[in-house]
Amino acid sequence: MSTIFSQIVEGEIPARVVYEDETTIAFLDANPLAPGHTLVIPKDEYERLNDVPDDVAPDLYAAIHQLVPAVEDAVDADASTVAFNNGAEAGQEVPHVHCHIVPRFDDDRAGPIHGMFAETGSIDSESLEDIATDLSETELDDIADGIESRV
Ligand code: AMP
Repeated sequence: MSTIFSQIVEGEIPARVVYEDETTIAFLDANPLAPGHTLVIPKDEYERLNDVPDDVAPDLYAAIHQLVPAVEDAVDADASTVAFNNGAEAGQEVPHVHCHIVPRFDDDRAGPIHGMFAETGSIDSESLEDIATDLSETELDDIADGIESRV
């Protein structure tokens, strides 16, 4: 069964679409956290960022790149929180990758995303070094070589 967002892409259910190109569509969130809360999605159904193909990812980012200032301007926001809940354990409810652009205001009292982890303890520097080493040795296109940890 297709996701609710695929049904929006197909025009089967209504949405307030604010941007559309060949691969990407953006629409207002139906339960906005703030005025102008916008979702940006690839039209094809990928569950997580990890599943988005290399040739689709740049289009998704290009749309986000344009929409962030446009959304802020539309509602006269001071800033925005731009986020993906990437996987069910991270709070993702709709299994169709989507970027939240949430306008932020000086007095909205929502705080930084660090507030989500207020109870989390600190990580020792050896563990950080191990993580940085593992990551820097992971083969990633274009950035596979030459990254040195500065920890
Ligand atoms: P997440 O928890 O990251 O999966 O976010 C899903 C988001 O989709 C929530 O912010 C919902 O309010 C939003 N949403 C769910 N159904 C619709 C819909 N039909 N149209 C617009 N937004 C929706």
